[in-house]
Amino acid sequence: MSKDKQGWSESADAALRVSAVGPIATFDPESTPGFTGDKALGKQLLGERGEVLADLQELLYANGRSGDTRSVLLVLQGMDTAGKGGIVRHVGGLVDPQGLAIKGFGKPTPEELQHDFLWRIHKALPPAGRIGIFDRSHYEDVLPVRVHNLVPQSEWEKRYDLINQFEAYLVKVGTTVIKCCLVVSKDEQKARLTERLERPDKYWKYNPGDIDERGYWDQYLEAYQAIFDLTDTDDAPWHLIPANKKWFARLSVCELLIEALQGLELDWPKADFDVEAERRRLAAVD
Ligand code: AMP
Ligand code: MG
Repeated sequence: MSKDKQGWSESADAALRVSAVGPIATFDPESTPGFTGDKALGKQLLGERGEVLADLQELLYANGRSGDTRSVLLVLQGMDTAGKGGIVRHVGGLVDPQGLAIKGFGKPTPEELQHDFLWRIHKALPPAGRIGIFDRSHYEDVLPVRVHNLVPQSEWEKRYDLINQFEAYLVKVGTTVIKCCLVVSKDEQKARLTERLERPDKYWKYNPGDIDERGYWDQYLEAYQAIFDLTDTDDAPWHLIPANKKWFARLSVCELLIEALQGLELDWPKADFDVEAERRRLAAVD
């Protein structure tokens, strides 16, 4: 188990589960729950654990190629600037990109709005053997949608149950669901937005609307807490990832993925050919 994992006093899953570290309103984005090491150790570990993650991802992919339909879905949520894109790059970047199915969800298109809110989600689910990463997700449909009443309350309030049913279904069909909310402090968000306005290489990340959304900070915290109260299930657990320290956010998500993949107890698929016969054939050719 994870007890012997360097720097960790318990599994990342237990240490970061929202039921252990919530509520979000009082959660410390500078903290490192379950991890006793410092930044230097955290950075070193990300490299080492990245190799473990890459090996496990290859196992998952190999099994997917051999008829195993299981997959893993990492759902990333968090306020603007929390670092969702950084997780995709720095944790997703640790594994073979062929094994990933990455999808970001922006404002729904006119076509998407003509369907139920899970339609576009279904289409983006990871195929067999793949690790899917959602940069935003179906939870947007109870975040900005709830905060701004983009649909009537009678509509959005039904969605929590629908989401639980959907995720329970995903788990039944063999998708391991890991949900992470990256939590950045209001001060840190201001610092990151400031940087985006000071550096020409960051202008592209700046969206004037982010300042407007920041004005709804407390309403977003409430909407997030409703999500945790209503959709943190053992099937599809929620984790709070402190995100002021980018190194810890990345290490945490890497560790959660490793734990999920280890839970699948994968082995290398058996050859679907006669290994001995093939060796003899190969030895016989020039
Ligand atoms: P970004 O992740 O920076 O590209 O921004 C995507 C934007 O799309 C964010 O402002 C999200 O809140 C918004 N968004 C994503 N999904 C939805 C949705 N279902 N309804 C309304 N806004 C959404
Ligand atoms: Mg943005």
